[in-house]
Amino acid sequence: MPEIRQNMVTRDWVIIATERAKRPDEYFQKGKKTTTQLLPPYDEKCPFCPGNEEMDLEVDRMPTSGPWQTRAVLNRFPALSSHGPVLRMMDGVTRKISGVGHHEVLVEHPIHNTTPALMTLSQMEMVFRMFYNRGWDICKDPRIEQIIYFRNHGERAGASLKHPHSQIIGLPVVSNNIRRRIDEMRRFFDDNGRCVICTMLELELEAGARIVTTSKHFIALVLYAAASPFHIWIIPRQHSVSFLYSSPEEIADMAFIIRDILRRLYIGLNDPDYNFIIRTAPVKELSNDYLHWYVTLVPRLSRTAGFELGSGMYINPALPEDSAEFLRQVRIT
Ligand SMILES: [Zn+2]
Ligand SMILES: [Zn+2]
Repeated sequence: MPEIRQNMVTRDWVIIATERAKRPDEYFQKGKKTTTQLLPPYDEKCPFCPGNEEMDLEVDRMPTSGPWQTRAVLNRFPALSSHGPVLRMMDGVTRKISGVGHHEVLVEHPIHNTTPALMTLSQMEMVFRMFYNRGWDICKDPRIEQIIYFRNHGERAGASLKHPHSQIIGLPVVSNNIRRRIDEMRRFFDDNGRCVICTMLELELEAGARIVTTSKHFIALVLYAAASPFHIWIIPRQHSVSFLYSSPEEIADMAFIIRDILRRLYIGLNDPDYNFIIRTAPVKELSNDYLHWYVTLVPRLSRTAGFELGSGMYINPALPEDSAEFLRQVRIT
């Protein structure tokens, strides 16, 4: 019989469709050409390839002298404008805020056809250090309420440019989706006197079945109520409200475990499309007890349709325990 499982953190329900579940190895994308096989290492038309840099858009680079390894640039076609005040306009049904904010692109590597799963550990560490530096810089803007750090890999994940990159968007509002998650974490803290994610981590470590891998500072697991096949959270062991409070050592370890997980997906499932997102506290809520930041990783292996739109629930045709077991077995060296 199928199971309807609930995520204890978000309280979202998912249908785990055990009866039509596929085996984990059936998600291996046979015949798919990987990014590296499909693309050349340099593309003369790509604005992110060395030699084509749009210098007027650059905000930071590493290292600061000599050839760059990672750059942060303003988005040429930003979703939000960085100029002007936040103006609220409310009149009857009309309710709006001026579209100000930040939209930056993090060019992760000078090579056009590589991907994080294939990058060196030191390169990945540099990428996360850049996320951290840009995050603190954007935080200083008093108009910003929330920063979303994310990566789209492949067409099914919504990537338009092929060159390896992530994005950072600073918003002048906290979205309803994030607000709802915060309210749930606050409610759990009120009821139990402790953080819901610390509680979940303790229970998951005890159970063991959904843990994929661990490092000194992080645990990577397939969620009990995974919304889609191989839906993973990478969670700091130490309770912390924001990614921006991470130490250099924690950032290095974050790069290590995320690279590890991305390599398992790359090798085990043949370079699936995916999104990853750093879910961290709103900029003006950096001093509460009940929020705990984490990274969510969603391989794009199943499609969503009318049922998901209609119910806000997902149907997952993979058993989370099997997905975790499969990823634990993948040899990544
Ligand atoms: Zn390029
Ligand atoms: Zn916690």
